[in-house]
Amino acid sequence: MARAYIALGSNLQQPDIQVTRALSELSSLPQTTLVKASSLYRTAPVGYDNQPDFINAVAEIETGLAPLELLHAILALETLHGRERPFPNAPRVLDLDLLFYEGASLQTPELTVPHPRMHERGFVLLPLAEIAAELDIPGHGKVVELAQHCMDQGVERIVD
Ligand code: ADP
Ligand code: MG
Repeated sequence: MARAYIALGSNLQQPDIQVTRALSELSSLPQTTLVKASSLYRTAPVGYDNQPDFINAVAEIETGLAPLELLHAILALETLHGRERPFPNAPRVLDLDLLFYEGASLQTPELTVPHPRMHERGFVLLPLAEIAAELDIPGHGKVVELAQHCMDQGVERIVD
């Protein structure tokens, strides 16, 4: 079994419900248990401004799936939620990104892990700091320290 972290995001079709449902679907993947889930966060869109705010969260799982098997499983969950890709950074009903997979460092056309942009994204680092503050992102440092540089990105924890 390996520990892995997955980022969840949605800004279409009741994003909070999409993300909550996806968390439970992650726990139902084969050979996989959901260990921790962050709170939900609200984030202003990045890269293409004229679209609704996002709901983001991060999950820690333990999985017997290999990195590529896990990628295929989470891409299948996106499809199940009706994900379409009209253009880069388009609004999305569900985005699931593999952030980190214990012991794996891969750079292929299909999968780059650790995720190449996670160390600069507040909507990843703030939820990740809630559940894995001490995690070290090779070449970039500890999640808790990286998160401190993202406090100005308009990422707000949703308190319920
Ligand atoms: P983005 O998440 O950057 O907005 P997409 O969700 O449309 O883009 O993903 C496009 C492709 O990125 C996926 O089909 C997948 O093969 C590839 N990809 C590469 N590395 C990763 C990763 N770590 N997590 C998720 N997808 C990845
Ligand atoms: Mg993605």
